[in-house]
Amino acid sequence: MAAADRQMTEERNVPAQAAISAVGCAAQTSAMARGACPSLSAPMATGDGLLVRLRPTTPGLTIPQFRALADAAGRHGNGLIEITARGNLQLRGLTADSVPGLAADIDCAGIVPETGVTIEVPPLSGLDLLELANARDVAARLRRQIAELDPQPILAPKMTIIIDGGGRLTLDALSADIRLRAARAGDGSILWTLATGGTARTAKRVASLPAERAVSAIIDLLGMLAQRGPRARGRDLDAAELRQRFHISRSDGGDTDEQALSPVGIHRLPDTGLILGLRPRFGQIHANDMLRFLDIAEHRGANEIRTAPDHALLLLGLDEVSVGMLQSTAADLGFQTRADDPANHLQLCSGAGACASAFYATRAVASQAIDLAPELLDGSLAMHLSGCRKGCAHPGKAGLVLVGAPMGYGIVVNGSASDEPLAYIGKDELKSALARMGGLVRNNKAAGESAEECLTRLGTDAIVTALRQG
Ligand code: SF4
Repeated sequence: MAAADRQMTEERNVPAQAAISAVGCAAQTSAMARGACPSLSAPMATGDGLLVRLRPTTPGLTIPQFRALADAAGRHGNGLIEITARGNLQLRGLTADSVPGLAADIDCAGIVPETGVTIEVPPLSGLDLLELANARDVAARLRRQIAELDPQPILAPKMTIIIDGGGRLTLDALSADIRLRAARAGDGSILWTLATGGTARTAKRVASLPAERAVSAIIDLLGMLAQRGPRARGRDLDAAELRQRFHISRSDGGDTDEQALSPVGIHRLPDTGLILGLRPRFGQIHANDMLRFLDIAEHRGANEIRTAPDHALLLLGLDEVSVGMLQSTAADLGFQTRADDPANHLQLCSGAGACASAFYATRAVASQAIDLAPELLDGSLAMHLSGCRKGCAHPGKAGLVLVGAPMGYGIVVNGSASDEPLAYIGKDELKSALARMGGLVRNNKAAGESAEECLTRLGTDAIVTALRQG
């Protein structure tokens, strides 16, 4: 952290600490004892210390709650706050000694992290009139039924259920073990499509059920997974067997939303008002900057912040005038505020300096990619900058992947970070390679063609040749 940042952290900590002490917090000594959050009780070791990931039980946080969280991130960690691709919050740079204090501050702020099986719903569920059915209600019903199970099923630690009522911001692109998607039946009623193992496009559809039966069907599936053992995942379930069980004859995939909207930008919701979606630069922000932004956002009238997939934040409570002013201020502070910002199409992990496994500084390379190869970032393909082959930021395929390697960078086209690279480039060759890739698209793109279509037409040989031209 730069000296100026450290100084600002100290400056910012004083009022927040005072505010917390002023309200008093009996919970400060009890948070860890309750073991409220597995992530808090079992933080993950990374290159910059321990990392804690959390998802609040409430749809969003109030501005004072987010302020308390940012303050705690600076006080107990290195101040870095991340919004993950799934919309979880991550705090970095903690130590074994500082985690209990963080947990206490989170508890004191009234933030209750979710525990148990992860159940995700779209960030605007319950507010969005385009939503076919309220996914948050169904999720709450499912949570209650899971909590009542005795004995509790022992499931894979990363077991994830998605419940998606449709609407503006869907979770179609996220993978899940089990997913429910609302759909309107021919008679106008709402049914929930139950599918297993994958994204909305790739998951295997196994049933189409009314809400009550859909919840009990998920309980059945969790029982089956528990019987298979603590490593069983949704993809391990036999879809054909499940279709028979639920009397469905169709074997097509789940519903998809090809027109998925970016969370970044201004969303107009009747009855709710205007919502500003933005993304901290490459999904990460320092607590000092967040605190500064929160003061401005509160002044402009924002009263709630929700995290959203794709590393985004949604600010609620704004009006026609304030939303534009806040968007402009956020852009000045380095947030990505436009849906067409080329940076939105970069997926990157924490990289060197934050993760011990990283072979390169992903954020620095992201800036170079924007400067040197904007032609690649037209939104038609995802560009994944992965510090190593693990591919934390984007486990699936991406149009172009730069994978960190001991000798430099591996280049994967239309694959994942763990795939064998098409070619390697040395550490000193990156800038010229990026420029050549950008030039390849710029010089060969036909009218109306996207970067992805252009690269697909040119083929991998042309890409490798361009990369190797020195
Ligand atoms: S992909 Fe590798 S370098 Fe990046 S965060 Fe994951 S483990 Fe670390």
